[in-house]
Amino acid sequence: MQDQQKTKYGHRAKDIAQDFAEHLKYSQDADIYHTTQEGRYTALALSVRDRIIHQWNQSRKTQRANGTKRVYYLSLEFLMGRAMTNNIINLGIENEVRDALTSLGYTYEELSEVEPDAGLGNGGLGRLASCFLDSLATLEIPAYGYGIRYNYGIFRQQIKNGWQTEQPDNWLRDGNPWEIHRPDVVYPVQFGGDVQVIREHGRDRFKWSGSEIVNGVAYDTPIIGYGCKTVNTLRLWSAKSPEEFNFHEFNDGDYTEAVRSKISAENLSQVLYPNDTLYMGKELRLKQQYFFVACSLADIINRFKRKESNWEVLPDYAAIQLNDTHPSLAVPELMRLLIDEENLEWDKAWEITVKTMGYTNHTLMPEALEKWSLPMLQKILPRHMQIIFEINHRFLQQAVSYFPLQPQMLSKVSIIEETNPKQVRMAHLAIIGSHSTNGVAELHSQLLKKSMFPQFNLIFKDRFNNKTNGITQRRWLLAANPKLAKLINSAIGDGWITDYNQIEKLKPFAEDKNFISDFAAIKQENKIRASSFLQKDSNMLINPNTFFDVQVKRIHEYKRQLLNALNILLIYNDLKQGGTATKDMEPISFLFGGKAAPGYVNAKLIIKLINNIAKVINADPATKDRLAIHFMPNYRVSMAEAIIPATNLSEQISTAGTEASGTGNMKFMCNGALTIGTMDGANIEIAQEVGEENMFIFGNTEEEIQKLSLSYDPFTFVMADKEIKDAIDLLFSGYFNINEPNIFEPLRRSLFEEGDRYYHFADLRMYSDAHRKARELYKEDRDAWNRIAVINIASSGKFSSDRTIAQYAKEIWNIEACPVEKDLSEDTALQDAVKRP
Ligand SMILES: *Cc1c(COP(=O)(O)O)cnc(C)c1O
Repeated sequence: MQDQQKTKYGHRAKDIAQDFAEHLKYSQDADIYHTTQEGRYTALALSVRDRIIHQWNQSRKTQRANGTKRVYYLSLEFLMGRAMTNNIINLGIENEVRDALTSLGYTYEELSEVEPDAGLGNGGLGRLASCFLDSLATLEIPAYGYGIRYNYGIFRQQIKNGWQTEQPDNWLRDGNPWEIHRPDVVYPVQFGGDVQVIREHGRDRFKWSGSEIVNGVAYDTPIIGYGCKTVNTLRLWSAKSPEEFNFHEFNDGDYTEAVRSKISAENLSQVLYPNDTLYMGKELRLKQQYFFVACSLADIINRFKRKESNWEVLPDYAAIQLNDTHPSLAVPELMRLLIDEENLEWDKAWEITVKTMGYTNHTLMPEALEKWSLPMLQKILPRHMQIIFEINHRFLQQAVSYFPLQPQMLSKVSIIEETNPKQVRMAHLAIIGSHSTNGVAELHSQLLKKSMFPQFNLIFKDRFNNKTNGITQRRWLLAANPKLAKLINSAIGDGWITDYNQIEKLKPFAEDKNFISDFAAIKQENKIRASSFLQKDSNMLINPNTFFDVQVKRIHEYKRQLLNALNILLIYNDLKQGGTATKDMEPISFLFGGKAAPGYVNAKLIIKLINNIAKVINADPATKDRLAIHFMPNYRVSMAEAIIPATNLSEQISTAGTEASGTGNMKFMCNGALTIGTMDGANIEIAQEVGEENMFIFGNTEEEIQKLSLSYDPFTFVMADKEIKDAIDLLFSGYFNINEPNIFEPLRRSLFEEGDRYYHFADLRMYSDAHRKARELYKEDRDAWNRIAVINIASSGKFSSDRTIAQYAKEIWNIEACPVEKDLSEDTALQDAVKRP
């Protein structure tokens, strides 16, 4: 028995091959007439999952036995991408899986590429949450990610005649082998209705009876730390109608109406809202937020109560981190649970709530700040609205003393904005209701204090802090760039995989001729791999023997894809005129990728502009073979993993003071791309680590932009620079849209009549010069380029999410690792599973 068990879960290639065959037959019922690539992928995923489950169970047991504090990371987005490669690497069975599949006539690549991305996020914020889960598990910190199991993730982008179109992302169509449905973990969530006040034992008690109930049921995904000791959980909630039918309507004979209302309740977890840094006051979105907050808090409280009855120690057991304001209803919800359900006094409940919560701000864009219409919030969550009023009332009483003789300051910090209708400012609620408010890069955290929330910084000075973002080197270097990872291992060993500071040991290899030439060869191989990815993915033809200049990220005016496009026009004109800026220029491929929010007109127009420019320039015999532009449709995590390792130049060119941190910048850096960028977000810290001389920094700083804003006139900049003037004239002459007259008019208006909010023309000349410097270095001194690329990798140690998470753990959560023993025996666990409780 013992021996059989070991074989089934063993890590040898033959054990894995055996399990894979068994899953194909017994989970898929595959035979020669019923066999698909999806079926084989699923069988492989289940075989890998079999090797995770026991350690997952072991982790929960250890954490429970230790009576340890846990982190709860509440996020409306988790941009996980694929799980297979990551899980196999973290399990340490990559070679064995490859051998197992080879022995059966398959390749690992063909099966792993079947997996759809889990695209439950928009961009950086959602990807950060995923990197954090990887780091939490690897650092052995007991943690749960909580979010929504959207049936449809971020839309699939197609390009039709140059325009973005959106297709639904039905990622669960073929099932999801990584998740475990837990029908026993289910919580009712109510909406609407009213609140009754009952006098009881000399105290007012509040009873909220909702008019609608939706159940949240848990789906768990294992999050495996590297080396597979700790396996944490991502718990996503799916909305389920509490009844199969409304029996009244059913018996009244309106069968279809009864089914319709069931479906309507389940709409809650249907679809991810596709806006990145743009807030929309949609009722369904508010309900999603409360739904996931209510389920998560009920779950956290449930776990706490199994262990403890003294509420004062809740902050010793739970640290709840709010990823942006999306989960900020957690503040009034925890107050409601403590006061209405657990009978605590307000002051005690408030102390516990503030100690438990931490809030991470992600943006400096005012249009991204969530404000719910007060009447809507009141209608959907009447009890929470009462609690928010009370929080605000008590806070304003305290705030008065900070603003003697300045009562107008109170309206600036109030949770309620006195517009018509009134608005509830969720960032204010989050700051007031938590003991920590952090920004995600040094500049961003400074600007939060100085520009966004100066009054709060006066009142809560000690609450504001910085946690510079990071990325997991295990996905973005080890998994995405296996050849480079191997080269690094051969130079400095593999300690960097779990201790990324060790990447610094690579510094001397920047002077090592053999290392440099190996690095260059790998970059070239990665370009070939990226080209064939794009050919398969979108039928694109990219010449791998060109310089790869890449800007991939959400399309947003502040990220300035338009600045990149304008610089391309300068290059194009110079090439056509035989100018000096492009003399003997290295052939370049400009690669763009990114989704625009479906309602964001200018962002969608920027995509169209890039595609039109690409179409005209790529067909121009005068520049052919020297300049190519490509828009890569449907940018997502798995595309990032193919493109970033192949990149020479990373474009990080947001207007200074607009990008909170950026994390794309870090992924490129650790893959040996050089950065052309502004002094914005984490670019500043990248420059501190690598040295400005090893980047192409350009443009106005945040302070300079502030000054310039008092008198900025884009037209003056254009008229002062003949080449820029010519590029603008070309662009708006209709040259790129002969048969589509005036389509780019909104962009022209935004740049000139609306004052160029993102200062394209204040930076374009400096950008163009910096870009030329980059091209010339690559062309004229390839060795120097590669040397700097290696220095960049060696200087990327700070940007591991392991470092970020260690700082959150120490400075916000006050939590320590809970080491889990690796247990390779399966039999006792099996007995636990079948034992009748
Ligand atoms: C890292 C990442 C982002 C964030 O990129 P930024 O350049 O920091 O905006 C967005 N989307 C995907 C798919 C990513 O992997």
